[in-house]
Amino acid sequence: MLSITALADKVRAGERVDADEALELYVRAPTSLLGRLADEVRARKHPDRLVTYIIDRNVNYTNVCVAKCSFCAFYRPVGSPEGYVLGFDELFRKIDETIAVGGVQLLMQGGHNPDLPLTWYEDLFRAIKARYPSFKLHALSPPEVIHISRLSQLPVPAVIEHLMAAGLDSIPGGGAEILVDRVRKLLHCYGKATADEWLDVMRHAHRAGLRTTATMMYGTVETEAERIEHLLRLRELQDETGGFTAFITWSYQPDHTELAGSEATGIDYLRTLAIARIVLDNFDNLQASWVTQGGKVGQLSLAYGANDMGSVMIEENVVRAAGASYCMDEVEIVRNIEDAGFAAKRRNMHYDILGEPMFREREVPRMLELATARPDGDTSVPGELMNYPARSRAGKQIRVIPN
Ligand code: SF4
Repeated sequence: MLSITALADKVRAGERVDADEALELYVRAPTSLLGRLADEVRARKHPDRLVTYIIDRNVNYTNVCVAKCSFCAFYRPVGSPEGYVLGFDELFRKIDETIAVGGVQLLMQGGHNPDLPLTWYEDLFRAIKARYPSFKLHALSPPEVIHISRLSQLPVPAVIEHLMAAGLDSIPGGGAEILVDRVRKLLHCYGKATADEWLDVMRHAHRAGLRTTATMMYGTVETEAERIEHLLRLRELQDETGGFTAFITWSYQPDHTELAGSEATGIDYLRTLAIARIVLDNFDNLQASWVTQGGKVGQLSLAYGANDMGSVMIEENVVRAAGASYCMDEVEIVRNIEDAGFAAKRRNMHYDILGEPMFREREVPRMLELATARPDGDTSVPGELMNYPARSRAGKQIRVIPN
């Protein structure tokens, strides 16, 4: 094994590190060195000192889920009085609010709801595109695509084809957790998607011409070697397809989850981000996860390999359910970027620069807290749901269509 100094020289020379070398750096390199190396890799890829962000809205269309991952505080079981499905009109209102603050897309993800057939997604996407033709749909993480594939008994490539025809623009990298099946079994997320299945959805999506992101949620039961294995599996697929636009990592948020435990520290986050920047030499963009780490560590991420502050977000439900509730509007994100010595630019999902901060171009209302999927206590059932067949007993009871 090379010494840490020799490994640092290798990274500086732009050479690829293997699994053992990555682990050695991750476990033994001083944090300041790891950060410097990641920052140098970031500077090589982004010499212009720009840091980007997107204005979009993180909408969770349903919290009803049959997967029951042990690290998740967001889902409600089928039949729960706290379960919801958003109506098309509610989603249109959210899009109107997003456009009002300069937003360009919905990041739409939800639980694995057995009572939403493929046609519900297709009709929703078509309805959104008919009303907002240039608005983008970054939607349905790989486990959701697999869930729809199982429900509809169509293979994954066919589901992707249907969704693309209805208006899907890109796929978010959620549900990856750690792409090692030992870990997925322990977290009760092996059933929703094995590591190979998650990667396969992305492979099919890339082949079909969609760009996607990749994520890693660390800090549950995995070893450091398994975090590295996750990164290497992403790097391998990116070599094959080149379809990932960005990588985002965040730490497990333990509150109100079945798994419980404690949250990874800020240093663990920064070291993990830095090693990801070093290992993922074929990824252009790494996002800071201020929504889980808070604004201050989010800002520090820009010195540890990140070149993007993620999303202004507007709404968030999943991380909040697990105890973290940080909010930064565009003014705050730009202040953090500029204070770190970078120029802030708005982008889209493809990392095309859209322009200067929106609030400098026109008046935008300040946003001091993130919106939620629904106001507390709102248990309404959208009328159009009655048009779709339910699979669960609870769903069938609600959807008795009157003569
Ligand atoms: S993480 Fe996603 S798939 Fe797992 S229980 Fe939560 S909502 Fe369901």
